[in-house]
Amino acid sequence: MKTIAIIGSGTMGNGIAHVFSLNGYRVHLIDISQQALDQALSTINLNMDRQIKKETISEEDKKRALGNLETGTHLKKGVESADLVIEAVIENVDIKKKIFTDVDRFAKKESILACNTSSISISRLASYTARPDKVIGMHFMNPVPMMELVEVIRGYNTSDETTKMVLDICRKIQKIPVEVQDYPGFIANRILMPMINESIYALQEGVAGVLEIDTIMKLGMAHPMGPLQLADYIGLDVCLSILQVMFNGFGDPKYAPCPLLANMVQAGHLGRKSGEGFYLWEAGKKDLVVSPRFMK
Ligand code: NAD
Repeated sequence: MKTIAIIGSGTMGNGIAHVFSLNGYRVHLIDISQQALDQALSTINLNMDRQIKKETISEEDKKRALGNLETGTHLKKGVESADLVIEAVIENVDIKKKIFTDVDRFAKKESILACNTSSISISRLASYTARPDKVIGMHFMNPVPMMELVEVIRGYNTSDETTKMVLDICRKIQKIPVEVQDYPGFIANRILMPMINESIYALQEGVAGVLEIDTIMKLGMAHPMGPLQLADYIGLDVCLSILQVMFNGFGDPKYAPCPLLANMVQAGHLGRKSGEGFYLWEAGKKDLVVSPRFMK
């Protein structure tokens, strides 16, 4: 596999383009928004400059990587020469359905179609194509250039050959792939989200405050950040939607999203990206400041 098309140039898409281009693959980064593509290129530039500063890559590596990278808003043109297509648009099943249907028509018959979804069923996305054996999940972690793990999700019909090729390519871009089966939340979110949800229940019930909950989990469990801070980073809307997928998928009340989480999302308090969640997120400020709503 030499040519990779990445659809969606947001948080995840630009990170995925970053690692593939740096590892010598030709990359077509596609988005419906030219502004998003411009923003992605500037983020990739900035992140590569950081790596140069840390001496993990050279100026020459960056130049070569940017030379491997093409951007565009035309889906057909972007995917028709790709050996592997990775879809990383917003977590919306109708949008992903349309993309998988279109890409299946435009991409070469032998190309693999991967999805970076956090929670949508790979078997369901595969059913929108005529090549379900070549559809697979590649769940990269955020921030992609820093995080080593890729959760590789086998759909019900994903072939051994497809899985092997994807595991191999993950290793070639210096990532560590771990293979899992296609059940709601896969592994990462199935275990992470109940912990986040439980911490929000504890906050809602007044068992402890925001800082207390996060400090206990940081110091007590050696987690690099507490669950409420992590939820703010992930986005509270994203956490809510993953919990809903697991609640619907398993029909088990243990995954029911905490009402406080639902309220915060309804109110537009989505965490870091909206400026306020459990904490206040002011641009340029590094110190953790608890949102006044949760001050005693
Ligand atoms: P994002 O909102 O940052 O970016 C999505 C991009 O998709 C935007 O640039 C948007 O313009 C583009 N887009 C929307 N519709 C499109 C279309 N029809 N064709 C082409 N581009 C289109 O989203 P994100 O956070 O990068 O998430 C992308 C995927 O990765 C989601 O499925 C999400 O669940 C998954 N994911 C996210 C994270 C995370 O921490 N953000 C982690 C792992 C997986």
